[in-house]
Amino acid sequence: MTGTPTGLSQAATSNRRPIETARNDFPILDQTVAGKPLVYLDNAATTQKPRRVIDSLRHYYEHDNANVHRGIHELSERATRQYESARDKVRDFINADVREEIIFVRGTTEAINLVAQSYLRPILAAGDEILITEMEHHSNIVPWQLVAEQTGARLRVAPITDSGELLLPTLAEMIGPRTRLLAVTQVSNALGSINPVADIVRLAHEQAVPVLVDGAQAVGHMPVDVRAIGCDFYAFSGHKMYGPTGIGVLYGRRDLLEKMPPWQGGGEMIRSVSFEKTEYNVLPHKFEAGTPHIAGAIGLGVAIDYIEDLGRSAIECHEQDLLAYATGALARVPGLRLVGTAPQKAAILSFLIDGLHPHDISTVLDREGVAVRAGHHCAMPLMARLGIPGTTRASLAFYNKPAEIDALVRGLLQVVAFFNRGRAGG
Ligand code: PMP
Repeated sequence: MTGTPTGLSQAATSNRRPIETARNDFPILDQTVAGKPLVYLDNAATTQKPRRVIDSLRHYYEHDNANVHRGIHELSERATRQYESARDKVRDFINADVREEIIFVRGTTEAINLVAQSYLRPILAAGDEILITEMEHHSNIVPWQLVAEQTGARLRVAPITDSGELLLPTLAEMIGPRTRLLAVTQVSNALGSINPVADIVRLAHEQAVPVLVDGAQAVGHMPVDVRAIGCDFYAFSGHKMYGPTGIGVLYGRRDLLEKMPPWQGGGEMIRSVSFEKTEYNVLPHKFEAGTPHIAGAIGLGVAIDYIEDLGRSAIECHEQDLLAYATGALARVPGLRLVGTAPQKAAILSFLIDGLHPHDISTVLDREGVAVRAGHHCAMPLMARLGIPGTTRASLAFYNKPAEIDALVRGLLQVVAFFNRGRAGG
């Protein structure tokens, strides 16, 4: 280790539960890969799970497993209580107005598709516009393209700067009388840029345009208050915030959700069914057709408890310290260029190294036990805009240590030396 981050902020150190020791809550991190201690720096793809979340899944299946809402027996009542209590936790966590605004879905991708098909499709006409940005994940592009194809609407794309900042004045000019929805990410998974979503919502609302915020990379890393942001929809995934896979949330403003038709039909989302006519259930059940991921929702609730115990501001401060340390440390690697240097950034470091392919870099790092990601990060249009095929990406979580960033840098120095030797050797 070459040193520790200077000035670890007060909030990070004077926390209810010290973040430094929280790493021990993650059993998976305590292992070796290729004979080296695992260094997990792929947190933007998915985060690891604390023991509490893992135990909650096991406990549910060992003691309480039953289907929700329908059974009049003890287990079903227990399962229902826990499932619905997870909804209350989510409501509190993002400060939604009422629990009916919290819809459990599979993840961010499903949440965005739900809005595209149930909110947007019925109101879109040929020539209408959906506004997104150049830094969106495919999940916040393709669902809009699908609905545009279905209706003759048009996708418009607000530009970013070379450093990965949204050009707000241009975005504002692009909101027009034909704009039916603006969809924007809060944090870019490929660049780390943090967008001023509350300002963006204000601009859009001035022209009565609703806004969906993709919160996949934000919600586990910083405080999120959907009412302070003012957005109409907010989408996120449990697995990127220390919860299980296969569970996520769509928050929607109640008045909008009330007007939207269900997007999937089946059990649970109905009040009564006859062959002539079906009456739909009330919110939020209207949007939860079929047996939900009950254990997943319960596990997500426990992940929320876990995050709240550490404190989201403390997590954010700690990750900002790690980001500053990593940014300085990576500067020591010859030929390395960071991709994404917006002033407001989350702890995601995308980079290129002169003459080296991102996949080669990550393959060599893997042999050192360092897990990073290489490629387009599900943001091919962003890579095209930046004129690059992809990057290597190290994405941090609060449980990462400065020593792990040192291991990354050591690995990168080896990669550079290895390929330089190869070249010198002809
Ligand atoms: N949006 C962003 C910004 C993401 O980073 C991701 C996941 N990489 C998604 C959407 C999609 O999330 P999921 O695969 O969990 O649906």
